[in-house]
Amino acid sequence: MRYQNVIVGGGLAGGMVAQEYREQDGDGTVLIVAREDHVPYHRPPLTKEYLRGEKPEAEVYMHPAEWWRNHEVDVRTGVSATAVDLGARSIALSDGEPVEYERLVLATGATPRTLPGAQSIRTLEDSRALAEKLAGSAGHLGVIGGGFIGVEVAASARMKGWEVTMAVPESVVWEHLFGAEVAVYFQRQLEEHGVNVNTGTKELPAGDYTLKLAGIGVTPNTELAEAAGLTVENGVHVDEHLRATDDVWAIGDIAAYQSAVHGRRLRIEHWDVALNQGGYVGRTWAGKESGPYTTVPYFFSDIGDWTWFEYVGPGSGRADIRGSMADDDFVAYYLDDDDKVTACLGVNRSDDVNEAKELIASHSGAPVG
Ligand code: NAP
Repeated sequence: MRYQNVIVGGGLAGGMVAQEYREQDGDGTVLIVAREDHVPYHRPPLTKEYLRGEKPEAEVYMHPAEWWRNHEVDVRTGVSATAVDLGARSIALSDGEPVEYERLVLATGATPRTLPGAQSIRTLEDSRALAEKLAGSAGHLGVIGGGFIGVEVAASARMKGWEVTMAVPESVVWEHLFGAEVAVYFQRQLEEHGVNVNTGTKELPAGDYTLKLAGIGVTPNTELAEAAGLTVENGVHVDEHLRATDDVWAIGDIAAYQSAVHGRRLRIEHWDVALNQGGYVGRTWAGKESGPYTTVPYFFSDIGDWTWFEYVGPGSGRADIRGSMADDDFVAYYLDDDDKVTACLGVNRSDDVNEAKELIASHSGAPVG
């Protein structure tokens, strides 16, 4: 069996490669190998609107199943790639004959770290199971970990009337991401809405918990790339064009890419990065893209329907905070020693975040005023 374009991974990154390739008039054969039993879907709703029963499952998918058929993209769901033979340009599958390719992209995502006795959320099934529980009579949810999953699920469960207790190793929730000065805003949101936040600990206080959820990070799924002989060190090493070799690319959670914007290697586990890197490879395959990948990483989060933020970066440095945290209307610029913007977080400040994105891309200074 032979396809010109083979995508290993049926998440958003993989789906975007196929979508963009077709939209840019790519007319070669396309196969997506998808380990999960679904056509590509969006994960952000799994801790937010879908989890709370506000968004139907049909709206979580990138497209309905017939869209892929109508666009002549073969999506083989419930099938894993088990090996890549770079010399023979072929992949072995858990189910069926090997497939030869002309171009291959690895978009294999990540696997959550787990704790005994606690659930995790990564897949639609994980979210559906928790959603069913949250929709029933209110209980007490214990959340271990104060990353994105922890904060978003804590807020969603609280909105469903559950008592929520968190164990967070940092001294302030999201301190490592945004610095304590900015992060206190988010912890305050949780506390003002009744979430019990325990900082400086990985252990939940003793108590009766109906359920426990671990949001303690993920491990990138790089085994396939490593076994194939690609360079793997905290992700699959790819160049400024997201290429691991002449005919193999890697994108999304697994891609440790050489960022043309930052001048260093980055690996970013966020929805918008998967979306843009997938789109970039799709355009490349359609012959419509030849420059390096230069999209500045962006991510966002909603904390219940209480507040939300957008961020561009990643970067660190002195925080220059403008606006009012009390009014949920502020922006924090992170400035290096030369007063250049390395990152920016905005709450209800999309224009400022967009402007900062341009400043980061062009290595310009701080915004005036
Ligand atoms: P995460 O955002 O990487 O945060 C994990 C947190 O858990 C870290 O603060 C980590 O602290 C802490 N931790 C590690 N081991 C722990 C332990 N044994 N006990 C308690 N805490 C522990 O990961 P996540 O929240 O699990 O999310 C999973 C993935 O989904 C991530 O890639 C995330 O970016 C993505 N996601 C993104 C969004 C969004 O963009 N809005 C939403 C949901 C999920 P240390 O750093 O000190 O180890």
